[in-house]
Amino acid sequence: MSDCLFCQIAAGTIPCDPVLQDDEFLAFRDINPQAPAHVLVIPRRHVAALTDLQDGDGDMMGRLALMGVAAARRLGLDDGGYRFVINCGVDGCQSVPHLHLHVLGGRAMSWPPG
Ligand code: 5GP
Ligand code: ZN
Repeated sequence: MSDCLFCQIAAGTIPCDPVLQDDEFLAFRDINPQAPAHVLVIPRRHVAALTDLQDGDGDMMGRLALMGVAAARRLGLDDGGYRFVINCGVDGCQSVPHLHLHVLGGRAMSWPPG
């Protein structure tokens, strides 16, 4: 998707600050961090949102989560812990329509989310 911001970041046409990457995923620092550590993990394949996932995407989602775990470990968050967030749609506060996992850490989080 040439007009998708995160597809362009995945392709390298828009720069990012990468943390981890492989053939399938890219983990990079959020441009507007909401915590001392704030990383986004995206599949290189364009998937707009959780609502677009198909039955066959279970393994991909598992690997996405494991990439988030690895990114958190790379950032030294294992001891303090961290939070995964995936926003979906208008009510979920999704602003970029390319599936992404937020990994947030480095401070105590509150609950419930606003
Ligand atoms: P959402 O609101 O869709 O769950 O999260 C989108 C995230 O993408 C936001 O936290 C926002 O700060 C981040 N973001 C938006 N544009 C860019 C960009 O160009 N580069 C990076 N690294 N992050 C971005
Ligand atoms: Zn995309």
